[in-house]
This record gives sequence, C-alpha cells and structure tokens, in this order.
Amino acid sequence: MQILVASNNPKKLAELRKIVAEAPELVDLADVEVIGTTDAPAYEEPVEDGRTFADNALIKARAGAKNTGLVTIADDSGLAVDELAGMPGVLSARWCGEHGNDAANNALLLAQLADVPDERRSCAFVSVCALVTPDGAEHVVEGRWEGQLLRSPRGENGFGYDPLFVPEAEIAQAGGIEQARSSAQLSPEEKNAASHRGKALAQLVPTLAELLR
Ligand code: IMP
Repeated sequence: MQILVASNNPKKLAELRKIVAEAPELVDLADVEVIGTTDAPAYEEPVEDGRTFADNALIKARAGAKNTGLVTIADDSGLAVDELAGMPGVLSARWCGEHGNDAANNALLLAQLADVPDERRSCAFVSVCALVTPDGAEHVVEGRWEGQLLRSPRGENGFGYDPLFVPEAEIAQAGGIEQARSSAQLSPEEKNAASHRGKALAQLVPTLAELLR
C-alpha cells in the first residue's frame, strides 16, 4: 500500500519513513511505501489559508487524498510563543512578511520580545498532522515540544527558529539556559527523537496499522 506525504520537504518524508520502518506495530504488516508529492500523480497544491495548524494540515491532506486516491498525511507546524498569544503560529514561515526568510523572521521575533523578561519567554514548537483516506475518514494528531526563547541565535543545524529555541529537557539537563543547547545544536537524530513532528507522527502509527490490516 502506498501512503502519500503531501509535502515537498524531504526531511518530513524521511522522518515519516523512519517512523513507519521502525514502528513495532507496523513491522509485520510490511508492504507499505511512503511517497512524497514529487512521486505522486501531479495536482495543483491548495492554498493554505486556514486559521489553525489543524485547518492547514487538513487542507493539504484532503487535497492529496482527493487528487491521488491515496491515503495522505500532511503536517502543518510552527512556533507558538506564549507572550504573543500563540503567534507566530500558522504565520511562522512568513512572520517578517516574506515567506521562508528565516533570518528576518528570527530577527523580528527577537526585536518584538526584547523587553520580555526571562521568566516569560516560554514557547513551543507545534506540529499537527492530518491523515485523510480516499473515502473521507480523517484523523488529526498534535505534537508539542516545549522550550524557551533565547536572546540571540545559537547553533547552525536545523532550520527556521531552531537557533532561538532551547528545549526544556536541555535546560534541565544543563542546569540552566545559559549552558543549554538550542535545537540548532542538536544532531538531526536527537532533534527527530524529541521534536514536535516526531511526536505527532508517532501518534498516527495505530491508525496506519489499522488501515494496513
Ligand atoms: P512548515 O510546516 O514546514 O510550513 O513550517 C512552518 C514554519 O514553522 C517553518 O518555516 C519554520 O519557520 C517553523 N518551524 C516549524 N517546525 C520547525 C522546526 O522544527 N524548527 C524550526 N522552525 C520550525
């Protein structure tokens, strides 16, 4: 059985493949192939104009299932800052006004929060994954990765807001935010094991097992 991941992001595809390959519930069910949009029949990608992560994940997953006839998984993610009432949220990729300019997004966020004291710099990466089947069944799951915002970028790995985000677990382990690693200082394996997206995708495993049985 083929499963479509409605994303052009090779990292998301690799992450889901790894989860499917390693999930004990799926091992005996074999015969599952995870493909990306580039390997699926071409279709026009929908506008992501939802108000919430769930809205956008469903928009993408519904379009994939409808146009390809495949079980489709889509994710929508972003950074939710408590002091900004959950924003940048669904606007994370274009917070500075320009889509995908990570440096400008980070600089704007730091400037907005310049006067916010350390004890009010909590935030979370959030990922909502939607699984939609061609006959219209829908499953939505959410993964969160709690952390604190730094005052200047730290680390070179990852993408997006990773250089500004220090996971709570790293702060606890290091004994304070000063010595803690940001998510841009974790290896890809460490990040996948702890991240919002990994946590969300893992919750879809029982649904996948059900579909494959
Ligand atoms: P998308 O869901 O891939 O479109 O991601 C939305 C935006 O949220 C990205 O452009 C990043 O700015 C931010 N984001 C989502 N996940 C992460 C992450 O794991 N690290 C850093 N930034 C992220």
